[in-house]
Amino acid sequence: MSYICSLCNGLFTLSLACPACSQPLEDSGRLEDYKGPYSPYNSADQYYGATYLQSSCEHIVSCPHCGEQYIYQVDLSLT
Ligand SMILES: [Zn+2]
Ligand SMILES: [Zn+2]
Repeated sequence: MSYICSLCNGLFTLSLACPACSQPLEDSGRLEDYKGPYSPYNSADQYYGATYLQSSCEHIVSCPHCGEQYIYQVDLSLT
């Protein structure tokens, strides 16, 4: 058994509206992927990661209309 993110695995289509303009938001990938270049195994992050019980996958969603980006937490599904 493992937890998967249905958005990462294409089981789920994002249907969120931008809080600012009500246009549909687009998935821009995982927040984790954005952190990548900034040495993810640095002191504070490593400590955080070790104690954090992961129950959601954080995605960046962006509005193509006004250019805003938001963090969207996807609940993980048990497979
Ligand atoms: Zn995900
Ligand atoms: Zn917008």
